[in-house]
Order: sequence, then structure tokens, then C-alpha cells
Amino acid sequence: MTLENDKDLRELILKAALLNALQHGGKAQAGALIGRVISERQDLKTQAKELAGFIGKVVAEVNSLSVDEQKRRVEEKWPEAIKKEKKPEETEKRLPGLPNADRYKQVVTRFSPNPDCVLHLGSARAIILSHEYARMYKGKFILRFEDTDPKVKRPVLEFYDRIRGDLAWLGCKADEEYIQSDRLPIYYKYAEQLLRDGNAYVCICPPEQFRKKTLAKKPCSCRSGSVEENLERWRRMLDGGYGEGEAVVRVKTDVEHPNPAVRDWPALRIIDPEKYPHPRVGSKYRVWPLYNIAAGVDDHLLGITHIIRGKEHLTNQVRQEYMYKHLGWKYPETIHYGRLKITGAFLSKSKIVQGIRECVYTGWDDPRLATFAALRKRGITPEAIKKMIIDVGPKTADVTLSWENLYAYNRKLLDPQSARYFFVSEPVKLKVKNVPKTFEAKLPLHPEKPDMGFREYTVTPEGGAMVFWVAKRDADAAEAGKMLRLMELFNVKIERAGDGLLEAVFAGEAYEDARKARAKLIHWIPVGEAVACRVVMPDASVDEGVAESACKKLKPDAVIQFERFGFVRVDENDAEFTVYYAHK
Ligand SMILES: [Zn+2]
Repeated sequence: MTLENDKDLRELILKAALLNALQHGGKAQAGALIGRVISERQDLKTQAKELAGFIGKVVAEVNSLSVDEQKRRVEEKWPEAIKKEKKPEETEKRLPGLPNADRYKQVVTRFSPNPDCVLHLGSARAIILSHEYARMYKGKFILRFEDTDPKVKRPVLEFYDRIRGDLAWLGCKADEEYIQSDRLPIYYKYAEQLLRDGNAYVCICPPEQFRKKTLAKKPCSCRSGSVEENLERWRRMLDGGYGEGEAVVRVKTDVEHPNPAVRDWPALRIIDPEKYPHPRVGSKYRVWPLYNIAAGVDDHLLGITHIIRGKEHLTNQVRQEYMYKHLGWKYPETIHYGRLKITGAFLSKSKIVQGIRECVYTGWDDPRLATFAALRKRGITPEAIKKMIIDVGPKTADVTLSWENLYAYNRKLLDPQSARYFFVSEPVKLKVKNVPKTFEAKLPLHPEKPDMGFREYTVTPEGGAMVFWVAKRDADAAEAGKMLRLMELFNVKIERAGDGLLEAVFAGEAYEDARKARAKLIHWIPVGEAVACRVVMPDASVDEGVAESACKKLKPDAVIQFERFGFVRVDENDAEFTVYYAHK
């Protein structure tokens, strides 16, 4: 007897394959099953090769089914297995505690973007961790716009609001908000204090000359200037006595510091106010603080207790600690997390901005981008992003994630709540003859939640025939003589297939017959019940097809599942029915 005639063995493999598929988003992995089968059938040890072939066939069959159909089959035959396979409810993952949190009356964290671009997935970690820690300790989460570079990293007005909107969407609304371009007098005040105390100086060396000196661990001649001289130079900076690039305030550190980038770092510089007006304050200021003085002063004044940021900021901490010492301040606690790479996600701000300007992208929410706006448009939920980031946590090791990781989080949230509908991509007509009666098809909106309701269609044969739209890929795979099952309706036997034409005869209603014949289950839409539907894919291409008429009542923002196709978010359902594809 060949293995394939062994009915018990077939059942054993089928069960294992179905359960394995359900654990892997609908795709069973053949390799994982051999050991499992042999552990129950020791007698097959010597026939591993033949067994592997048989398993491959059963796996291919299982993988051609929709997840819903896989679930249905397991529930029907092995209801006890599904309960056993269900993992216990995962306990909500908590973040590790913050260092020295008990030393502060209130934990205060901040997120401080430059509004020179919209936010994207690359910012998710800073936002979510800072917000989450503030919530965890019943503290305060501050949003601070770092917009003090009107020349190179020029802020743009619309992004202030877009960033606020992105934070609200992520569920990370700030308790307080500050904008650095409102705070220039504050930075000036501390710059003067540093100059007056001899802890900073105005350097008027040409940049190249200063660079050579500093690389040679030598001070420039400005460093030893008197306080009066420095204050005089400072006034000239403010009054316009120096032009752009002619003078810079430097904070004294250690001219022999092992890291040249730390040696007497620049704190404030001149930007031509007529050439580079600021979008918020115009040409009011000509001296602008650089990152380390602005962020350093603000972190202290705003009472930030814990700075949670990427480890690329480690050198900034070293720089700022000199300034904190000069001013007699205590540096906040810091958590520096490792790099989070997301394979395939496009996260270069400058390239995004350039692509928008050159109209390569349709907008900030172009599905090819990893901006929050684009993710929102595609039906990626903020809860999924949040959960993924919290699971990664604040660890210092670099982490690489993929889109698939994010999709898995999202699918887990969407699957239990998304209504199911049929969408037929590249529709092809299927004509079924000899249909004996009118059928009332009652399709559940969710296979496990009858309380969500049904879509109902009455299909009446005309002269014994019915015509359906089916997907081209199903039509292409159909073979004359084989059976197909129209999901939740009836079975048909294909008579003619090919050249975009599909003709079949009615072959009974029993699901069991279809199962026995290993008939493929396909989705369908009665020709009179179709509405045109455009699916915008993640690569911005458009899949044109038809959706069932029950979709007409869907509201924008609804996230649904097109069975055997994927999750989509309804974008427009007025003149046109347009959805954005999320993932399988
Ligand atoms: Zn100098």
C-alpha cells in the first residue's frame, strides 16, 4: 500500500498542516510537519522521502484555502485541537522601569521633532517610549518643536500641525507644548551668562582655521579673550556687526578631549535674516541657537527628568554635560536605545521631501512612504505600531524589523473585528448551467461572529443559468472536469475554461462533496450585485475590480477584509469606491 492511500495518515497530516497553517497566518510549513508526523507514526521513519512528498501535497492543498476556511475545517473535525492550540492570553508587555524614577517628584519626558518634515515610522520609538513612560509613572509628556535652523533644516508651517495630528492619531497627545523659536531670549540669556562667567567665547576664526587648530588640540586665540571683549563681540553678533559665518559662540569644554567633536562646540551662530526668514518669527532674529544649547537649556528649564532617545545622541550628552557643569545644573537621566531598522521602509526625510517636491509621490500619505499619514491611509492601526515598539522596548542593541512584523501586529488586531467581503480582482465571467432553483446566499460578515450580521444575496437562475464574476487568477487555475465550490453557495463542475471564459454546470450544494473532491473554494459576486472597486496597493499601483454590492454602505475609514485578498481601508465610497491595501 502506498502512503497516499493510508486514510488515517492523511487525516493525521491534514490536522497537523491545518493547525500549523493557522499558527502561520494561513501558510503551513511542510518542513515543520515531518517530525511531528513521525513522532506519532514511528513505522514511517524509513519512508521519510515518500512521506515528505505526501506532506508536501497536503500542505499545498491546505495553503490554497483561506484562513477562514482552514479554521472552519479544524472546528468541524477537531474542535478540541483549536482550544488546545490557542495560546493563553498574553499578558500585556510592560516596559522595564526607568532609572532613578523615585528620585523625582514627577517623571517628565519629551519628544522634540524638527518640523521640517512629517513624522514617519523612524520617530515611532522616541514618541511611543517617551509617552508610555510618562503614562506609566503618571508623569508629564512634553512636545517641543526644535525649529531653530531657518537655513538648512528649515521648518515648514504645515508640519507643526501635521505633527500634532500624528501624535493625536498615535494616542500620544502631549500634556504641554513648547516651540523653540518662541524662546530665543531665553537662549540668549544663558549664552550671555556663559560668556560672562568665562565659560564660552565668541570665535571669529574662519571655520577652516578653527578646525585645524582644534584637530591639533590647540585653542584658537579667541578662547583667551577677556569677558568684556567677548560681550562686545556678542553684541556685534546681535547688532549685525558680523555677517553670516563670521562669528560663533563656543562653549568651553576641553581642547584635548579625545573626541574632536566635543572640543569647544558651537552654540549660537548667525543666519542672514533677510535671506532666510523663519516661517514663524520672520526676520526678527539673526543669531540662532544650535541644537545642543537649545535642547540642553530646555531640558533643564522644562524639568525633563528622563531623556529617551537614540544612541546617536551619546556625543551630544557629553557636549551638553560641560554646559550643565558651567551652569551648575544636574543632567537628566538618559536612556539611549539602539537603532531600529525597518527593512524596506523608506525613512530618509530629505528624500521624502524631495520626492514630494518633484511629484514622485502623490502626497505625504503616498502608500510607498512610511509616514504615519501613509500608514493611517492603509489601515495600519496606531495600536499595532505601539505594541510593536513596546515589545522592542528601549534596549541598546540594534533591532531590525520588517514590514511583515508590523503587519503581523496589525493583523492580530484587525482579524477579530474586520467584516469580510468579496472583491474580485480582474473579473472574469463564470456561467453556471442547470441551476435547479433560486438560492438565498447568507454570508457571515465574520466567520466566528454571527452577531456581526450577514450579507445576503438572492440568486435566481435565468433559463437555468447564473452568471458570476470570479477572479482571473481563479479562472486561470480552473481546469475542465474539475470541481469548484463557490464559497457558502454551491459546487460547480467546470466544463470549459480558458481565454477569459469559464463555463460550468451546477454540481450540488453539499460542502462535504466539495471537500471530498478537494475542490478549491473561490469567492464570487453575482453579475448584478457588483460595484466597481479600485484597490490602491502599497507600491501605488491600482488593482481594478469589482466588490459585492453590500460594500456600498461602508463608510470611509472602515477597515475590512476582502476574503482571499487582504485587509483594506475604505478611503472613498461616494462617486468612486476606493480602498487602500494594508496587507494579507
Ligand atoms: Zn577663534
